[in-house]
Amino acid sequence: MDFAALGARRPLPCRADPDLFFADNITDRGAAVRICRGCPLRAPCAEYALEQREEWGVWGGLTRADRLELWSGSDAWRVDDEGRLRRACGTRQAYFAHFTFGEEPCEACTAVQDEHVRADRRRRLEGEHAKGGTVTGYHLHRRLGEAACADCKRAVAATSAARRGGQQATGGAAPPVAARGITGGARSDPATAQALLAA
Ligand code: SF4
Ligand SMILES: [Zn+2]
Ligand SMILES: [Zn+2]
Repeated sequence: MDFAALGARRPLPCRADPDLFFADNITDRGAAVRICRGCPLRAPCAEYALEQREEWGVWGGLTRADRLELWSGSDAWRVDDEGRLRRACGTRQAYFAHFTFGEEPCEACTAVQDEHVRADRRRRLEGEHAKGGTVTGYHLHRRLGEAACADCKRAVAATSAARRGGQQATGGAAPPVAARGITGGARSDPATAQALLAA
């Protein structure tokens, strides 16, 4: 049975205040969208408006702007099970939208985000290598799940040696780890922590 037939047989929330569903202001349109989410005909109503190319008003929780996005032919959008227009999964926007809606990110979105993080680390590592290898580069190698290159290892060793030299010069006891400015990342990394604590 189609939406028009279904709608004729039951009281619909929008019939109580039709003007709200064709309002010019965004506040009233938002109220209409929220009302639609509790309507048992939300999905067939949205489908009907999309098929009939209803240009105006809120239908099935979709505004005119939402329908224009879907009519544009772009596959960047989807309507979720609750009738919300969402970025299609498999994008970074969709990854963050999962959190906005209190959900665990799906596999497709997580894969895209993981790849973005890896690419960003790889890009930052290139910058550290341009400096000749650094302690930061060492940690980036580790975060990328790979052994550090010789240049970055040398930078860690040089940092350790410099710290050893500084302590011998002052003759003082080694300050606590936190006082030596070792960041959370460094503290959590066994190799660097050992190198620095051995100083
Ligand atoms: S989904 Fe919204 S517009 Fe459609 S019938 Fe229900 S209340 Fe009316
Ligand atoms: Zn997703
Ligand atoms: Zn390196």
